[in-house]
Amino acid sequence: MSAPPPPALPPEAPAPAPKPKVALSLIRATGRTHLGNYLGATRSFAQLSAREDVRCYFGVATLHSLTTLSDPRALKRDIRGVVVDFIAAGVDPERAVIFDQTAIPETLQLSWLLSCLTTAGRLERMHHWKEKKDKLAELGQAANVGLFTYPILMAADILGPAADLVPVGEDQLQHVEFARDLALRFNHLYGDYFRVPTFLEREAVRVPGLSASGKMGKSEGDKATLYLGDSYEAQWKKIKVAPTDPARVRLQDAGHPDRCNIGGIHKVLTHLGLHEEGGMEWVTDGCTQAKWGCAVCKKRALDVMEEGFLREIRERRAAVEARGDGYIDEVIREGNERARARIQPVVLGAMERAGLITRWV
Ligand code: AMP
Repeated sequence: MSAPPPPALPPEAPAPAPKPKVALSLIRATGRTHLGNYLGATRSFAQLSAREDVRCYFGVATLHSLTTLSDPRALKRDIRGVVVDFIAAGVDPERAVIFDQTAIPETLQLSWLLSCLTTAGRLERMHHWKEKKDKLAELGQAANVGLFTYPILMAADILGPAADLVPVGEDQLQHVEFARDLALRFNHLYGDYFRVPTFLEREAVRVPGLSASGKMGKSEGDKATLYLGDSYEAQWKKIKVAPTDPARVRLQDAGHPDRCNIGGIHKVLTHLGLHEEGGMEWVTDGCTQAKWGCAVCKKRALDVMEEGFLREIRERRAAVEARGDGYIDEVIREGNERARARIQPVVLGAMERAGLITRWV
């Protein structure tokens, strides 16, 4: 006789929905957003804000802005400008929380807690600090302590909302690494508490500047920087005269793998899937075999960007600017409330873990 069939298994319970990931990144309010900010950061912000499985917190790093800025009127103007840039880049303000770093005082409390877990030696080794300090010294100026402790405040920004993903450009990777180390150190001392953030689910990029410097950035000057808010004609005027002669640009001397800065931009576009027809092959082949001149190469880079995102960014910017400052202020006010509601309990919990008493009732 054969054995009786095994009893039927109970129907499987549906698997619980995975917890959404938290993405966090901030941008300083120190002037107009450029191509480096977009390809390195805000483009990812827009992609993340469209995802169902990610909660986004994108902020204006107003406190960090003070480390290099001392013009209150410019700062006030640029705060709204960063938020316009987020929305123009495609961040959906209905889905993402857009906030001002200053509106979350708990971030500063956490920053203090973390500063007590950091040695001065560790901060002295940060590339960002070394670069900025040396640049200021060349101008005969001394660096302020805010610049020195910049990475600690950034770590507090990241750990405060318990972020998993931190979309940043390549220049900020060391700072995210540092935030990871601080999370591990805190957890080691006080028991598992902070999530250990990763960067992003892709390799970070570095957009070269248009002049002889290695990186596009606000501090590299106007000639080196392609602003997103400019017209196509203004952008072409700037890119057309950008030096591309490898002997003058000397990117390779500075440890940069690209032959010239425009080649570097083509490479980033290709890497991000924005360049068609083989992208880099087209550039390297055309350049090394002198099939086309630099002007053709530059025009092609600008046109790929114009079709890929620049026109769309300009249109979205015009639409959001037409809604006026009142709309932007409302987005920030609401975002501040939502961000603080998320961050405050995390920070108070961390303070309690460290032995502080946060509620004297
Ligand atoms: P900042 O303007 O320094 O606050 O930078 C804001 C964001 O833009 C950070 O995530 C930077 O890593 C990113 N970013 C700035 N410049 C570049 C660049 N040239 N290439 C890639 N990412 C950049």
